[in-house]
Amino acid sequence: EVRVRFAPSPTGFLHLGGLRTALYNYIFAKKYGGSFVLRLEDTDQSRLVPGAAESIEDMLEWAGIPPDESPRRGGPMGPYLQSLRLDLYSETAQQLVKSGHAYYCFCSAQRLELLKKEALRAGQTPRYDNRCRHLRSDQVQEKLVNGVPRVIRFRLESGAEPFQDLIFGWNRHEVAEVEGDPVVIKADGFPTYHLANIVDDHYMKISHVLRGSEWLISTSKHLLMYRALGWQPPTFGHLPLLINKDGSKLSKRQGDIFIQSFQRDGVLPEALLDITTNCGSGFNTNRMGRRIDELISEFNPSKITTHSAMLDMDKLPEFNRVHLQWQIEDGERCLLLIKDLQEQIQHLYSAGIQDKEVLCEDYIRRVLHLRKGHISSLKELLSPNYAYLWVRPSFSIQQVEALTTEAQHLASLVLKSVEERCGELAVDPLNKELKLLAKQAKTTKYREVMKLFRLTLSGLQQGPSVAEMMVSLGPAEIKHRFQKLLQ
Ligand code: GLU
Repeated sequence: EVRVRFAPSPTGFLHLGGLRTALYNYIFAKKYGGSFVLRLEDTDQSRLVPGAAESIEDMLEWAGIPPDESPRRGGPMGPYLQSLRLDLYSETAQQLVKSGHAYYCFCSAQRLELLKKEALRAGQTPRYDNRCRHLRSDQVQEKLVNGVPRVIRFRLESGAEPFQDLIFGWNRHEVAEVEGDPVVIKADGFPTYHLANIVDDHYMKISHVLRGSEWLISTSKHLLMYRALGWQPPTFGHLPLLINKDGSKLSKRQGDIFIQSFQRDGVLPEALLDITTNCGSGFNTNRMGRRIDELISEFNPSKITTHSAMLDMDKLPEFNRVHLQWQIEDGERCLLLIKDLQEQIQHLYSAGIQDKEVLCEDYIRRVLHLRKGHISSLKELLSPNYAYLWVRPSFSIQQVEALTTEAQHLASLVLKSVEERCGELAVDPLNKELKLLAKQAKTTKYREVMKLFRLTLSGLQQGPSVAEMMVSLGPAEIKHRFQKLLQ
């Protein structure tokens, strides 16, 4: 049975790199009929960020890749928060101590600090010198009885076995040669990442560990622990990192890669999923516009490359435009967009709204259908360029006079033509009609006529075509706006 997990530490909010790792796990689970588990690794209590745990799960739900089992949803192999599983880690650590694979270490912080300084002075990488490995059992007993602060360390044996990573192929790191024995239980009784991680992957029956490639070098260490415990390890697959277009590291410090900020800026989750899987990894072809069901069906793990995935965030608006377009075309999705807009329009323009008409479902739907393919975010419709859709424009008589002396004549022609159409408006025929209508002007050129109309309808000098503006506003509102020229 395929069981995969996304195991973030709630020491920060979900960012693009994390979302992508979660997404590959989700896709993998769904492709092979398995389960996707969210496990929060909150063992570093000093670095917890308030609200991060809740938010990570919120963001997965928002992105449309909800876990099957999680702290919030529960599940058969919970709890899914490591701080609630402390007994399991200490039992396992005791088991390791008993079998001689782990030992108590009483080295003081000062001693470790000193070791580190000495190593650095000698130009070496600091590592623990494994001194407490050699304590006699009576020495250990005495210190335990006297309550000397202690940690538990795992005894790294040499002879790490090679393992086959799904993505990076054969790997082996002779950890014992380069690292000191790692702490598995800290002085505060909490486990470290390495222990908690393998204990949970074991008891949660995780079949495949798909995680960021920064963990590739830790895997040999994890495998030594599996071996010491007599457990069957899962299969590992390390996902290459996401990097910026210029090759630099995708930094959390930039602040603009947090999923919450994309959500706030009106980016569609579908666009985020699409763009993070569109940088050359895991698919036979690269194409824009894949939705989750297509990501699942087209996913091919053997196509995940080992080189970093370059993310071109400049393309995000384009991805968003494509996904916004199909959502507008999908009745149910469109209704959600409409509800969202209704709320925002009301909020933004509360007093100035021309009349309740603009908050109607049909009105907003018509606007969306006319603008799809042009806008890359719903937020655009709330910008000053589109204010004319929701509130009546203001412009001065001087602006009109600068364009033509026949404003009244032209306005009455428009009013008459709208009257004759009995509410039937469509962009193409309207365009033709406007051309004919402009010919009836005595001294004003077509271009100026269109400028006058655009000004009357929107107060703007640029924007969608006059015909489109008219179709979106509808006959009653057109009349209202053109009447102003007759006064
Ligand atoms: N808690 C680790 C992290 O934040 C999880 C690594 C893993 O998936 O094993 O990246």
